[in-house]
Amino acid sequence: MIVLAVHRVRLPNSKPFFFKESNMSLIITDDCINCDVCEPECPNNAISAGVEIYEIDMDKCTECVGHYDEPQCVEVCPVDCIPLDVDNFETHDELMDKYILLTSAL
Ligand code: SF4
Ligand code: SF4
Repeated sequence: MIVLAVHRVRLPNSKPFFFKESNMSLIITDDCINCDVCEPECPNNAISAGVEIYEIDMDKCTECVGHYDEPQCVEVCPVDCIPLDVDNFETHDELMDKYILLTSAL
């Protein structure tokens, strides 16, 4: 059985955020203004500057599960351009497994 949690999510090109029951990694939309505020806040080093905007490596994003109660990048982004990635559903357990894998490699 998949245990769902309530998370803040915004689909691309929709404002404002709304709530959805799900667990996923996050994605940066083209509303990004390249302010660089989020990158140093990510505990998994999942955020980096891309060719045009900042990007999140879904293999490293745990939605901050294992580190914080809330996604830190979403907390600091001044333009709210980091919604959940609806194309990459992950359960809380899968996110926790990813966290364990990432931290065990340290
Ligand atoms: S949700 Fe957390 S782990 Fe994922 S990119 Fe944002 S800060 Fe990094
Ligand atoms: S905080 Fe938001 S606007 Fe700034 S670089 Fe990160 S995603 Fe882009």
